[in-house]
Amino acid sequence: MLVSAKEMLDKAREGKYSVGQFNINNLEWTKAVLQTAQENNSPVILGVSEGAGKYMGGYKTVVGMVNGMLEELGITVPVALHLDHGSYEGALACIDAGFSSVMFDGSHYDIDENIAKTSELVKICDSKGISIEAEVGSIGGEEDGVVGTGEVADPQECKAIADLGVTMLAAGIGNIHGQYPDNWAGLDFDVLAKIKELTGNMPLVLHGGTGISEEMIKKAISLGVSKINVNTECQWAFAEATRKYIEEGKDKVGKGFDPRKILAPGTEAIKVTVKEKMELFGSVNKA
Ligand SMILES: [Zn+2]
Repeated sequence: MLVSAKEMLDKAREGKYSVGQFNINNLEWTKAVLQTAQENNSPVILGVSEGAGKYMGGYKTVVGMVNGMLEELGITVPVALHLDHGSYEGALACIDAGFSSVMFDGSHYDIDENIAKTSELVKICDSKGISIEAEVGSIGGEEDGVVGTGEVADPQECKAIADLGVTMLAAGIGNIHGQYPDNWAGLDFDVLAKIKELTGNMPLVLHGGTGISEEMIKKAISLGVSKINVNTECQWAFAEATRKYIEEGKDKVGKGFDPRKILAPGTEAIKVTVKEKMELFGSVNKA
């Protein structure tokens, strides 16, 4: 059964480790992440962007697939199904479809509107036992070929959003989605420490986990980061393994064209990546 992310994140914050959010794109992705979590006895959060939800046939399809796998693959570790960077309408749709967690990304609104919309969604999520992530200070990333440096959130605004009763808070601290540029300045730990000081026991979320050094990840966890999002790294691993299979001509040998065979190396590569992250984040055997 899917669970809210609240309990697993509170435990992570207290135990000084992080739970990984791994974004899923299809059946293979979902199975790889769930099986790796089970094999490593780790709690896990499945992230679904609005685009990925649409790609997979809609939110209800995703809920059906995930619930089916939990039962039929015998997954007993805590699993949250979480909307990633949701709009207000997207969050409502996911709550309705049976997600156990949502992120409302109101960081592109001014702070008053972000507060108003987050506050409404907190009430709805509370009434259904669903966890909710809010965001302050947008996370940078590549847009139209221009790589943003990653905004740094205002700690007072973080406190205002945390006080609304959200389950977890994503704050920009110079992190970005996708590949980090060579001249990246790194995470702003002074701001992270200030946010932690003002938000108390709020589990903090680090987006853009791909390409942040192990040292910085560990420092961020020590400063209250309890959830780390990983997306691009699994995509790279999947693409590389799949390309190798095709380039080696394996699809032309015997029944190598069977889609289940073509997708197998990529699926295994995702599992390796997820396991490495769970070890780095410290969530192994924390289920
Ligand atoms: Zn993100």
